[in-house]
Amino acid sequence: MKKLCLICSGSVKEINSYSHKCKKCGFYFSTLSSGYGQDVKGLEHIRKQNFKKILNIIMNLKKNPKILEIGSGDGYFIEECINFDISIFGSEASLDSLKSLKKKFKNKVEIFNLSLPESIIKKTKTRFDFIVFNDVFEHLTNLHKVINTSQLALKKDGIIIINSPTSDGIIFNFSLFLMNLGFTKFYDRLWQKNMNSPHLSYFNKKNLNLLFSKHNFYEFISGNLNSLDINNSSRFNNLFDSVFKRIVFSIFCFLFFFFQKFLPKDIMFVFFKHK
Ligand SMILES: [Zn+2]
Repeated sequence: MKKLCLICSGSVKEINSYSHKCKKCGFYFSTLSSGYGQDVKGLEHIRKQNFKKILNIIMNLKKNPKILEIGSGDGYFIEECINFDISIFGSEASLDSLKSLKKKFKNKVEIFNLSLPESIIKKTKTRFDFIVFNDVFEHLTNLHKVINTSQLALKKDGIIIINSPTSDGIIFNFSLFLMNLGFTKFYDRLWQKNMNSPHLSYFNKKNLNLLFSKHNFYEFISGNLNSLDINNSSRFNNLFDSVFKRIVFSIFCFLFFFFQKFLPKDIMFVFFKHK
């Protein structure tokens, strides 16, 4: 059967054995099998910086916000919410992660065992001002259902926040370029191929907006986040076997850190509000 784009029903072209691109809206998606669990380590500092940026926007929008995070992973977002004195509820699909989160936060934070697109409101029995997907949305199947179940768990004027890598970014496009030259390693890594929870989607701001507009959401605020820290050594330890390659790559990332200001950004965030 011919595949069609789940966002705009446009026809798609094959990029490689597991990834496709919509010819109409540019949405990239993979046929890798979905899963959950933590794969990428060593991102604590950069992720926390990014979360601070998002939380500052939230604090400007709403006093005493009630937030639900979908897929809390290592709990960095929860930690930042606690620092901001914000009422946060976590959730996890992976029972292992759920267990360690519960151990980490004891009785301070309520964490639900939630595997979307199951009904959020049934599990939480309450509605939220914000539902946040931090590097999670691109790992999920059944996106239309995911948006529906999120909407039902939002208060009136509630907001969905998506924070995800973008196919407009320099890293994605450079990896695509290398893949077309025959170097597939980076492209595979971007999709987190052969990892617990591969990427199923790669959006840009335009097709993400199109997807949410089908559910009567509109972009309310958006921006970009940093993708690389000044020190990335721990992040790439598992990518290269040789110390030499790791050092070369770390130097490359160090330089990239300074240049990323001038390049198309790799991580986007969008606040979606219902019409
Ligand atoms: Zn499309």
